[in-house]
Amino acid sequence: MKEELEKIREECQASLALAKTEPEISEIRVRVLGRKGSLTQLLKRLGTLPEAERKEIGRRANEIKEDLEARVEEGLRRIQEQERTESLERERIDVTLPGRRMVLGRRHPLTQTLDEIIHIFSRLGFEVVEGPEVELDYYNFEALNIPKGHPAREMQATFFISEDVVLRTHTSPVQVRTMEKKRPPVRVICPGAVYRCDSDPTHSPMFHQVEGLLVDRGITFSDLKGVLSVFVQQMFGRGTQLRFRPSFFPFTEPSAEIDIECFICGGKGCGVCSNTGWLEILGSGMVDPAVYRFVGYDPEEVTGFAFGMGIERIAMLKYGINDIRLFFTNDLRFLKQF
Ligand SMILES: [Zn+2]
Repeated sequence: MKEELEKIREECQASLALAKTEPEISEIRVRVLGRKGSLTQLLKRLGTLPEAERKEIGRRANEIKEDLEARVEEGLRRIQEQERTESLERERIDVTLPGRRMVLGRRHPLTQTLDEIIHIFSRLGFEVVEGPEVELDYYNFEALNIPKGHPAREMQATFFISEDVVLRTHTSPVQVRTMEKKRPPVRVICPGAVYRCDSDPTHSPMFHQVEGLLVDRGITFSDLKGVLSVFVQQMFGRGTQLRFRPSFFPFTEPSAEIDIECFICGGKGCGVCSNTGWLEILGSGMVDPAVYRFVGYDPEEVTGFAFGMGIERIAMLKYGINDIRLFFTNDLRFLKQF
């Protein structure tokens, strides 16, 4: 039994020295020191020995057991240490490498222009309201004093969804919807996408408008001139010259278009202003009493004005862009300039 014991020791020490992984060591531990391991089995048989021999072999067997247990622990520690060193080596971080550059997005030029417009009007007490882009013919035309068969319908090449449903051709229906819900005073601007069958360098089938509406007791044309003059000065710079030019819209009377002095040629005349020295930027007018009847306001009691402008046109003039389609092709070389 003594020889058997030494053989177990030698064999176990040799295997441990060769073991390179945790499972290998665990396997040796089970094979020798486990419940059915060779050393454990041997210890169980000690009782069959004569007493003198039992004492001596028992002591030696326990020595060997402790020694092997220690070697197993040592082996496991060694392997873990080695794995840690290897993984540190593998995942080494070079702190001198330059960092990855963060690509920052920016607001679209149309969003920037709209935000600026909203900012100016909100300081004048206007509140932002929105409405549906798929609109009833009633709100898009009828309630704005453009009945079926009216020639003004031809001014706006319309996408019809059905006989009574259209893609809104302007944001004016939002004004009607607002007046239906709210009694005067009303002071709103309505931004949003609008649609017309039109496509060339200055027209897009989808574009954006901002319309404004102010209705209260005693509002006059001079209020319109005051508010829009403040807007033009803040949007295009203090001292910008503007003029009011008589015009026609079915839902306002009287109506006026507003031109600003061409800031490219300073009013002398150039290609951008078609040699007139002026740039048309928005339409406006006093709300036609006929419109109030559709929403239940009394035209004897309240008056008001409305105005509207194309956001693309304002942005094109402000930044000197000559093709409206550039806004929608998502070319980063273009968008990065803003
Ligand atoms: Zn000009």
